[in-house]
Amino acid sequence: MITVRLRPNEEHRIRAGHLWVFKDEISKVPAVEPGTLVRVVDRHETSYGVGFCNPLSKITVRLLGTERESIDADFFTERVRAAQRLREQLLPGETAYRLLFGESDLMSGLIIDRYGDHFVIQMLAAGMDQHRDDIVHAIRTVFPAAKSVVEKNMAQTRLKEGLELREGLVWGTVPETVDITENGLTLRIDLVGGQKTGYFLDQKINRAMVARFCANRSVLDCFCNVGGFALNAAAAGAREAVGVDSSAVAIAAAQRNSEINNLTNVRFEDANVFELLRAHVEEGRTWDVIILDPPSFAKSRTVLRKAHAGYAELNRLAIKALAPGGILVSASCTQLVPEADLLDIIYTEGSRLQKRLRLLYRGTQAPDHPVLLAMPETQYLKLFIFDIVNE
Ligand code: SAH
Repeated sequence: MITVRLRPNEEHRIRAGHLWVFKDEISKVPAVEPGTLVRVVDRHETSYGVGFCNPLSKITVRLLGTERESIDADFFTERVRAAQRLREQLLPGETAYRLLFGESDLMSGLIIDRYGDHFVIQMLAAGMDQHRDDIVHAIRTVFPAAKSVVEKNMAQTRLKEGLELREGLVWGTVPETVDITENGLTLRIDLVGGQKTGYFLDQKINRAMVARFCANRSVLDCFCNVGGFALNAAAAGAREAVGVDSSAVAIAAAQRNSEINNLTNVRFEDANVFELLRAHVEEGRTWDVIILDPPSFAKSRTVLRKAHAGYAELNRLAIKALAPGGILVSASCTQLVPEADLLDIIYTEGSRLQKRLRLLYRGTQAPDHPVLLAMPETQYLKLFIFDIVNE
């Protein structure tokens, strides 16, 4: 097996448990095919285990674990089984969750979501991409009742790994839609056509928390996708809940979800949130609860300033459109914007408008998306619930 050597003093992050070895941290990038298994050592020959090497990628080696000869079907089965054991403890009785969350499950570049007997996989690195058959085998071994595996490999980051974009059924048969339950609601998910991997599972606990504030109130769910927050709010007895998203496909799915659950106090609108909020502010239309759950505003540092401006504008508009005593729910899934920065942005906007915001709840990604402390990259979701305090 080829050995990759770390440059002097580049071992500290790796020793602490980080799984990525960057191109500029190794003395010589080996001329191997993307996805080749290599071992990683420092200048003292101390081993950091084996990983998949991709000379095309800035993340040149993705470590998998201690030294071993090969990465085979059994290895994948073992890791999927360990991931499932953890989820059983974290979310007992649930059947829709993130089964395996890449680095946090020591499987850099692989994501597996479970929707009952159907599984959605994402491979974000060459090594994982080449092991698609082993991944399917592992899922079928750990879940003998599995009916299908769908791949959702459309993330732009695949291009940096020299991988093409593709999606579709990999194994088994998948119905047009799959029903899952969340907080007592039924959600009909389109695994092949939906965004991300069908449903945003990471907000599950936050949705239940937000719902507590929605009874008898008017609720505007901005960036609602297939209706997650708005449906939870409606089921909790909102006076009126409205979900807004710019994707017509998502809005149609959200509408369908409200019908399945017989909710008549919720409706959905296909619109641009920024334009809609500006219009509401102009007309003086207000809401008791406004939820902001926008897509990531910055995938790289170069656009960070723009992302900050985006969050500032969005929160400013929402604060203006809140009725007295209103509740602001503000989330960000931009990994590059840390919690403290987002809080600071919201504080600044609130204080400019002379609104005293009180932080009632501080949420993050659901525990089926655990955070590896050695890899801050695995911590991405922030969600705050504020009320506006008056005497
Ligand atoms: N709140 C959702 C997840 C939101 S994901 C849930 O709980 O499941 C972000 C959503 O924002 C996507 O559905 C995307 O279609 C939508 N979106 C992106 N830009 C938008 C814009 N400017 N206006 C409205 N929706 C937008």
